[in-house]
Amino acid sequence: MSSISWRTERKGYWFFKEGKILREADTDKRTHFSINGDNDKYSVIYDKIKKQWSCDCQFFSLKLKKCSHVIACEYLQKEESNLNKERM
Ligand SMILES: [Zn+2]
Repeated sequence: MSSISWRTERKGYWFFKEGKILREADTDKRTHFSINGDNDKYSVIYDKIKKQWSCDCQFFSLKLKKCSHVIACEYLQKEESNLNKERM
């Protein structure tokens, strides 16, 4: 698997830290997020069945690699699952 550049990683973390992610919808099959980027808004979808991420930005569609938006959503999910563990 190709590695993710530190720039993408850092930008994703920044989106997460700055609270740029909005959870739009959560169904049995999918979770929809939206990210407020610098100039644009992006839609990220997590497919729970396939366990796959997708994003509608150019980076993702050209390179088919995790973009900063997907990374940001992963941070959000990770944080939420940690919070859930603490509650139990
Ligand atoms: Zn993206």
